[in-house]
Amino acid sequence: MPEGPETHALADRLATLLVDERLTHVRFIDPGLQRRRALLERQRVLAVEARGKALLTAVAGGWTLYAHSHLFGFWRFVDDQDALPDGAPPRLVLATVRGVAALYAAPSISLWRTDELGAQPYLAKLGPDVLDPAVDARALLAHMRTPRFARRTLAVLLLDQGFAAGMGNYLRSEVLFQAKLSPHRALEDLATNERRRLANALLDVPRRAYRAKHDDALPPGKDYLARTRAQFGFEVFERKGDPCPRGDGRIVEDRLAGRRLYWCPGCQQ
Ligand SMILES: [Zn+2]
Repeated sequence: MPEGPETHALADRLATLLVDERLTHVRFIDPGLQRRRALLERQRVLAVEARGKALLTAVAGGWTLYAHSHLFGFWRFVDDQDALPDGAPPRLVLATVRGVAALYAAPSISLWRTDELGAQPYLAKLGPDVLDPAVDARALLAHMRTPRFARRTLAVLLLDQGFAAGMGNYLRSEVLFQAKLSPHRALEDLATNERRRLANALLDVPRRAYRAKHDDALPPGKDYLARTRAQFGFEVFERKGDPCPRGDGRIVEDRLAGRRLYWCPGCQQ
């Protein structure tokens, strides 16, 4: 499943194709949406943005297309519609003079008035997005004081989109490693400096993962990443049995909250 960095990189790719162009063709497989395609067709695309793992395409005229790929949804990009492969039809096709984007498999797709987007159930539950330039460590620390998070373990919280939107399974292991925190700790047991380490890692690790997808050139509007290192590689994820990069033990694999988690009991306390 794509995590925040992959979804944001996908939003950049869609933006290159769509933003400031008019949609020349829109097609949904869902008959209800297909009847409403005129809300999008011939409209100019204002923005494509990622929020958590959802993609939002806003058009002039006040409508926004919501798409969440879930486990199996994926996009294809082609120059024109004839180049789309035969076989299972896409659930959604968006075309401009620059090219065609098609979404496949089993995503959630819906159309919202842009000013009512806050009522979309997935978006309404999202916590601060770790890749949103407006989110800083202070905002995360304030959000950590939400009472319902207090007794939950970090292993559970770091997969909860309501705690930190855009987080996911590989990021969970890497954030906890950078913060030197055990996945078994409960949030309420963290000291102030440990919370600060967690907040900083929640921002730094996903941003490096995202930044590394763009080599040197940052996409427009991503200047906030200018001082983020462009290198990203797994330090612990899928490294079971390897020596810890900090040299104080071996990486272990746990199943926590149903997903694989990798960590070092030597340095993650
Ligand atoms: Zn270690």
